[in-house]
Amino acid sequence: MTTEGAPAEARAVLAALGVPAERLVGGPASRTPITGEKLAEPRLADAAELEAAIGRASAAFEIWRDVPAPRRGELVRLFGEELRRSKAALGRLVTLEAGKIVSEGLGEVQEMIDVCDFAVGLSRQLYGLTIATERPDHRMMETWRPLGVVGVISAFNFPVAVWAWNAALALVCGNAAVWKPSEKTPLTALATQALFERAAAVFGGAPEGLSSVVLGGRELGEQLVDDARVALVSATGSTAMGRAVGPRVASRFGRSLLELGGNNAAIVRPSADLDLTLRAVAFSAMGTAGQRCTTLRRLFVHGEVYDNLLPRLRQAYASVAIGDPREQGVLVGPLIDGDAFSAMERALERARLAGATVSGGERVEGPGGAESFYVRPALVEIAEHAGPALEETFAPILYVLRCDDLDEAIALNNAVPQGLASAIFTNDLREAERFLSARGSDCGIVNVNIGPSGAEIGGAFGGEKETGGGRESGSDSWKAYMRRATNTVNYGATLPLAQGVRFDI
Ligand code: NAD
Repeated sequence: MTTEGAPAEARAVLAALGVPAERLVGGPASRTPITGEKLAEPRLADAAELEAAIGRASAAFEIWRDVPAPRRGELVRLFGEELRRSKAALGRLVTLEAGKIVSEGLGEVQEMIDVCDFAVGLSRQLYGLTIATERPDHRMMETWRPLGVVGVISAFNFPVAVWAWNAALALVCGNAAVWKPSEKTPLTALATQALFERAAAVFGGAPEGLSSVVLGGRELGEQLVDDARVALVSATGSTAMGRAVGPRVASRFGRSLLELGGNNAAIVRPSADLDLTLRAVAFSAMGTAGQRCTTLRRLFVHGEVYDNLLPRLRQAYASVAIGDPREQGVLVGPLIDGDAFSAMERALERARLAGATVSGGERVEGPGGAESFYVRPALVEIAEHAGPALEETFAPILYVLRCDDLDEAIALNNAVPQGLASAIFTNDLREAERFLSARGSDCGIVNVNIGPSGAEIGGAFGGEKETGGGRESGSDSWKAYMRRATNTVNYGATLPLAQGVRFDI
């Protein structure tokens, strides 16, 4: 059993990844959710340090914006190489600090590598358009220019991948980045920054301060949000955070990219492949201990298949391996902390009071005794779509409701404030297309026969309504990190005005 030694292992991994020892002392204790033990005491930045970091980033931007984009891509390519070399170590640190199972820790680093590859290709494809003009001897086009300093605020549950989605694109687009990671996951952030600095040293000539990390809590985040030198604030976290950040950035006419909470649903229809559905639901609802923004939280099952699917689902919930995420075979690791456990308990209590049938949800003994919080994922059968089912509780709770009518199921899918991810399980083409159509799911991610947690780097990631409306990583998300200029060039000797306007002097 690998139930001991998390602090020693973290120290070794941090040293291997090149995090200077002096950055790991003098601050508040940073603990592993696996056992509750202290891993390090990383020093926090004060207001003056953030001020200086933004100043360095602003100066770096003025140099970096003139570097040709494919050359900027070379830095990101080198960073991807560092990540490949250090995938095992950084993945392990994600496991130690965020409590993800080993394959999910590694998967998070793979996601960083994938977005680096994507961004490198993008560095030769920052295309604008040439547009037909009504005026003779004129040419109209649009060009995309770097934006400035990009502030990245990230959540604990994807402690490094979310930064990479933002930074890889921001850097090839010609920007500088300042990162304030979650106060719950400072160590993976320091390690990522150390790997970036290695890549920058190999690259040679990257301006100082092009990418930096500042450790701190909400107040430091607020300072970053309010600083007019930060052209774009990309903030990932709860809807409560986004509700505070969005208006603050808007009040200074800055740009924000918000990736906030989700309350994701799936619909199971009579024609669904139930073996596939069962596996997809289990991974989407229990994986990462229910602490993914795309975690499946609501399931609407047709009456014809309810009594076939539910017993199998109950069995999966009763038997899933819970425990030390470093151990082989474990699929559900710890909750991030005691507050997460209390929130789960409160939601389940409300569901019980409303008449729901709850299986699971109890605390399970883990390697850390009282200092760590392991739970059996909860399956909650409800008769009415109400109460805690309408909220995002960041824990493994799946609310299940019998629902026969497809229109009603789609309406229920859409009847929450968030609009992140959704799925339908069906082999009926009409039902699938209906769900994907304008009258279907109102989410940013709409899937057929895979769970809601299936984002890949090539597609744009994000959601609607209280999820914030931002899009990151693939497709044309890069445009959020650039300024669009429309350019008209007159290569003639006259000055015809558009719309037939005359102004003869
Ligand atoms: P959180 O909102 O508590 O914290 C997120 C980050 O915001 C932290 O770095 C925190 O210090 C900072 N912050 C909080 N208040 C702030 C403020 N007023 N101004 C500036 N910064 C502030 O979220 P969490 O508990 O770390 O993460 C879980 C939440 O994040 C869930 O709601 C989850 O759905 C969401 N999430 C969304 C996505 C997505 O892509 N949509 C991805 C991951 C997590």
